[in-house]
Amino acid sequence: MKEMTLPPPPRVDGKTDALSLLPEELAELLMSLGQPKYRAKQIFPLLSRGLPFSEMSNLPKDLRRTLEKSCADTLPRVEKKLVSAIDGTVKYLFRLHDGACIESVLMRYEHGNSLCISSQVGCRMGCRFCASTIGGKVRDLYPSELLGQVIAARLDCGERVSNIVMMGIGEPLDNFDNVVRFLHLVNHEDGVCIGYRHISLSTCGLVPRIYDLAGLDLPITLSISLHAPTDEQRSSIMPINRRYPLAELFAACRDYYATTGRRISFEYTLISGKNDSVSDAAALADCLTRAFRGTGAPLHVNLIRVNEVDGSGFSRGDRESVNAFAEALGKRGIVATVRRRLGADVNAACGQLRRATAAEQTGKTESEGKA
Ligand code: SAH
Repeated sequence: MKEMTLPPPPRVDGKTDALSLLPEELAELLMSLGQPKYRAKQIFPLLSRGLPFSEMSNLPKDLRRTLEKSCADTLPRVEKKLVSAIDGTVKYLFRLHDGACIESVLMRYEHGNSLCISSQVGCRMGCRFCASTIGGKVRDLYPSELLGQVIAARLDCGERVSNIVMMGIGEPLDNFDNVVRFLHLVNHEDGVCIGYRHISLSTCGLVPRIYDLAGLDLPITLSISLHAPTDEQRSSIMPINRRYPLAELFAACRDYYATTGRRISFEYTLISGKNDSVSDAAALADCLTRAFRGTGAPLHVNLIRVNEVDGSGFSRGDRESVNAFAEALGKRGIVATVRRRLGADVNAACGQLRRATAAEQTGKTESEGKA
C-alpha cells in the first residue's frame, strides 16, 4: 500500500464534515480550535460509532457545543427498514441530511454480515436494465455518508458488519475521491476497522479510474459488471461500453491484477434472449480466456438472473437457463457461481425501493417489487 495524501473532503453546506476526516485531519481541526491534539484520538472512535458531539461526555461542554455548531451532521437516518422473512436480509432506506434517499442492504451469511452500500444518489451510467439510473444522478455521496451507511446499519442491527460491497445505487468510480477517502476511513483501526480484503467495489467499467485505483494499491476486490461477451451486445445495454470497449476494459483489469495481485470478479446478469444462451456462455469463456491468457489471473464469474425493472422490457429467464450457462462456462474452464437471490421479498435489488418511495411521495403508482 502506498502512503498518500488525499484531497480534502468537500464541505457540506459550508460546514466541516467531521465524519469525513481521518484522525490526523481531525487533530488539525481541533488544534485550530485551540484544543490539544489528543482530542482527535478521543473523538474519531466515537464518531465511528455514530455518537453525536452532544453525547461525547468525555469532552468539555463548550467544545461539544462548538463542534456541534461548526460541523455538519451527515449521518444517514433509517427512513424505512424491510426485513426478509425468507433469509433475514435487511433492506434499509436511508434519509440523508438534505432529504435525499439511498439504499443499503444487509446480507447475513455464515461467515458474517455483509453490507451492500450506495455510492451516489442516483446514477448517470444509463445501464438499460438498472433501476438506479432511471432518474439520472442527483449527487455524489460524501465520504461520511458512505461510512455513515456502515455505522447506521451497525447501530440499527446491533451486530458487526464484516464485509462491504459497493454494489448499491451509483457508480463508485464516478465518485472516486470520496470513495477512496471512505476506504481509508472504514479501514482505520481506531474506527470501523474493516480490512481491505473484506471490501469489494463494483464498476460498470470506468477504465481510467480502474488504473487510478490500481495505482493506490489497496487490496480490495474489484468486480466488473460485464453482462455481455461482445462489444455489440454490451454497448446495446451499457452505454459506458461505447466509451471504453471490452479490449480497453480487459487491459485495465490486467493492470489491476498485475499491480494488486487481487483476483477479479465478473458480474454477469442474464437477460432472457439477450445474453443468456449457451453460445453467449461460450463466447464469454472465449473472450475471458483470450484476454487473460498468460497473466495467471484467477477469474471468477458471478451469474444472476436480471431483476425485472418496469419499463426496461428485459425479462428474467428460468433457473435452467442460468444452470446451463454456468455449466457451459465450467466446461471451458471458467469458474462460475450462481448468485443466491437474497431478500427476494424486500425489494432488495438496487434502486428499486428508492424509486418506489419517490413514486409513493409523488402519488404515482408503481408495480415494482419483483426484485
Ligand atoms: N455501478 C456499479 C455498481 C452498482 S450496480 C456497477 O455497475 O457495477 C451493482 C450490480 O447490479 C451491477 O453488476 C449491475 O450491473 C447489477 N444490476 C443492476 N440492475 C440490475 C438488475 N435489474 N438485475 C440484475 N442485476 C442488476
